Amino acid sequence: MSFEIKSMTNINEGIEEILITHEELIKRIEEVGKEISKDYVGKNPLLIALLKGSVPFLSELLNSIYIPMEYECVKVSSYCGTKSTGCVTIEGLNKLSIENRNLIIIEDIVDSGLTIQKTIEALNEYHPASIEVATLLDKPSMRQIENIHPKYICFKIPNKFVVGFGLDFNQQFRNLPYVGVLKPTMYME
Ligand code: 5GP
Repeated sequence: MSFEIKSMTNINEGIEEILITHEELIKRIEEVGKEISKDYVGKNPLLIALLKGSVPFLSELLNSIYIPMEYECVKVSSYCGTKSTGCVTIEGLNKLSIENRNLIIIEDIVDSGLTIQKTIEALNEYHPASIEVATLLDKPSMRQIENIHPKYICFKIPNKFVVGFGLDFNQQFRNLPYVGVLKPTMYME
């Protein structure tokens, strides 16, 4: 399947509706960072960020986590255009020291739940002490895997294809400072 992105001089032109403003994102992420700090006192959590979409979320979250912690990044892919491919690939796990660590997966969005399920399965192979999920966005109406319940959710959103603050459409729009709904006219299948 191939996609063509219409040419723009300003990426804001591609957005139909702003769903979550930059200010709302920053305020809520700060709350979640403080919550994680309280829950993980003395546990030196290891945050596992799923590249590339979670980078702005991770970066903002780090500003408000005030306990000792570490983070690592792994590359996970599952989407092509605006649709999940259903096939999840994870690169870079074998290089990490995960055994007996308290892990928090940092994700941009949980949709069907397949990516998180596959990531948890893969991490469990390395015998961590615990695994929780922190996600910027959650689309609960799209869940296919029922037992996926992220402990930390910044925002629940309706079933719309969103971009911005790390979320992409064919690698574009990650640099929007807010989360918005893409104009359907921006892509042609
Ligand atoms: P899941 O495996 O839960 O169906 O999907 C998770 C991944 O799909 C996310 O990490 C993200 O890359 C992608 N994804 C799901 N919904 C959206 C969306 O609305 N917008 C964008 N840009 N990516 C999405």
